Amino acid sequence: MGLVINGISVSRGIAIGKAHLLRHDELEVSRHTVPRPLIDEEITRFKVALGKARRQLRAIRDRIPHHAPADIVGFIDTHLLMLEDAVLTEAPIEIIREQQCNAEWAVKTQCETLVNVFEEMNDPYLRTRKDDINHVVDRVLRNLMGPGSGEAGQQNRGAKDRIVIAEDVSPAEVLIMHHEGVAGIVTRYGGPNSHTAILARSLGIPTVVGAPHVQEYIRKHEALVLDGRQGAVLALPMPVELGYYRGRQREEKRRLQELKGIRDLPARTLDGVDVQLLANVEIPEDIPSIKKVCADGIGLYRTEMLFINRDRPPDEEEQFQVYRKIVRAMKGAPVTIRTLDLGADKTLQEVQRDHVVMTNPAMGLRAIRCCLKEPEIFVTQVRAILRASAYGNVRMMIPMLSTLQELRQVENLVEEEKKRLRGQRKAFDESIRIGGMIEVPAAAMAANAFARRLDFLSIGTNDLIQYALAVDRLDEEVNYLYDPLHPAVLKLIRMTIMAGKKAGIPVSMCGEMAGDPCYTRLLLGMGLREFSAYPATLLEIKAIINASRIEMLEKYVKRILRAERQEDILTLVETLNSLH
Ligand code: PEP
Ligand code: MG
Repeated sequence: MGLVINGISVSRGIAIGKAHLLRHDELEVSRHTVPRPLIDEEITRFKVALGKARRQLRAIRDRIPHHAPADIVGFIDTHLLMLEDAVLTEAPIEIIREQQCNAEWAVKTQCETLVNVFEEMNDPYLRTRKDDINHVVDRVLRNLMGPGSGEAGQQNRGAKDRIVIAEDVSPAEVLIMHHEGVAGIVTRYGGPNSHTAILARSLGIPTVVGAPHVQEYIRKHEALVLDGRQGAVLALPMPVELGYYRGRQREEKRRLQELKGIRDLPARTLDGVDVQLLANVEIPEDIPSIKKVCADGIGLYRTEMLFINRDRPPDEEEQFQVYRKIVRAMKGAPVTIRTLDLGADKTLQEVQRDHVVMTNPAMGLRAIRCCLKEPEIFVTQVRAILRASAYGNVRMMIPMLSTLQELRQVENLVEEEKKRLRGQRKAFDESIRIGGMIEVPAAAMAANAFARRLDFLSIGTNDLIQYALAVDRLDEEVNYLYDPLHPAVLKLIRMTIMAGKKAGIPVSMCGEMAGDPCYTRLLLGMGLREFSAYPATLLEIKAIINASRIEMLEKYVKRILRAERQEDILTLVETLNSLH
C-alpha cells in the first residue's frame, strides 16, 4: 500500500490523477534605491501593476458560473475593493516617495504592516481577511515582477485531470482550476466550512482540506488517488488499489444514473411512512436544481446571502420581489424563509467597515439577537416575507432562538406588521406559519415550551453541534471534535423531535447532518420525518428512506441512544446502515 494522508472531507467523489503541485512561493523581494528623477516612473509602474491586477480579477469574476454561490462573486469583489482602498493604492506610493525605494519593496512593506495588524487580532474571521490581503498583494507583486514570477493563474494551467496539491487555495483559484478541468484538490489548511470548501462542493470537485504536510510528502507528477468521502489521499497506489478505486468511480457513476429513476417517486418507507424531502437554498438561482430532484419544497432559504457583499441592505420592495419569485417558482410547495442570520462569519459591509470586532462572534450578537437589536432591518424583512406569503405556501423561520422572551418579541413585531399591512390593504397569508430553528442547546432542552408556541421546528445541527460541544465550526484545529454522533448531540436532537411530536407540530432538520446519507437511518429511527438538505444529495437520501422499515429502525436506534461511547455509536450506526 502506498502513502496515505488523511484530511477533512469536503466533497464526496473519487479522483485519480497525477499530482500538480501548486506553490505560492514566497516572492523574493529586494530593496533598491530609486533615484529622485525616476520616482514618478516607479509610481507609474506600481499603478500599472494595480490596474492589471484589477483586470485579472474582473476576468476571473466574469468566468464564474451562474450556479456558483453568490458569496463567491462577493469574494472576488472584496479583493477588487481592496485594490481600490487607499491602504493598498496610496500608502505604497507614499513609501516609494519617502523611502525612495522600488515599488515591490513598498508593496511588501505595506503588506507586512497590514498583516501584522490582523495577526494581533486573534479572530478566525479576521484571519481570513489577512489571507485576502496576502492574495491581493501577491497578485500585484507578480505583476510588478513580470512573467518569471509565475502568476497563480498560470501555475494552475496544466491542472487538467490533475490533483492539485497546495498549502491553501483561494476561491478564485478554485474557479480557474475548475475551468481547466481539475480532477481534485488537496490542501494543507482550511476547514469544511471555508468559502473554498463551499465552492468546491458546489462545483462537485472531489476535495480534501486540512491534510497535514501534504506538500512535503507528495512529489510532482506522482500518481494519486483522492478519496473525497474518506477525506484521504493515497500516493503511488498499487495496481490492485487503483483497480478498487476505478471500480468505485464506475459504481458512483452508475449509482447517480440509477438515482434519477426514483426522482418522481414519493419518499416513503417500506412500511408506508411518508417523509418530506426539502431543499436548502442560498440564492434564487438554486431553484432549477431543486426542480431536477423533485424536492417537496424549500426547508431553508438562507436570506442573508441577499444582504452580504453590498453597501446597503435590500429594501422591502427588493426583498419582496426576490421572495415572491421563489414562492411563485415553487408553485404551492412550502417555502421556508429564514429571517436574517447575520453575525459570526456573515456580516454586513457596514459593520465590517466600522471594524466592529466581537471577541466571540458565534456567541455574540447574531441572528435573531441582531434582528431584535436592529428592528428596522428585521421589520423590513418581516414585511417583505409577509407580502410574499400572499403568493404561495410561505413559512417564516427564526434562527438562533434561545429564550421565549425573544419569541414573544418576534410575535409582537410580526403582529404589528400584519396590522399595518391590513391598514395599507396589502395582501398576505393571515395564517402564515412561524417556526423556529433549534440550534442552541438551551432551546433544544426547552423544546417543549418552544413547540407549544410555534408552528414548526427545524433543527440546525451545524450550530447545535458547535454550541453543544464548544467547537468553533470554522476552526480546523478543533474540527476533530465536531461530531454529530456525540451522545449529547443525539439527546438534544431526540428531545427536539419528541417535543414536536408532543405538541403536534412538524420538526425538520436543515443542518448538514440531514444531507449526509450516513445519518439518514439514524434520524428516521429517532423520529425525524422532514429532511432539508442541498439538492444534489436528496435523491440518495430518498433511496435510503425507500429501502428502510421504520419499525426495525426504531428498535435499533433505541440501542444507539443508550450507548455512551462515540466509537460504539459509530459502529452501531454503521451496522444500522448495512441492515436489510
Ligand atoms: C445550522 O446551523 O445547522 C443551519 C442550518 O444554519 P447555518 O448553517 O446557516 O448556521
Ligand atoms: Mg445555524
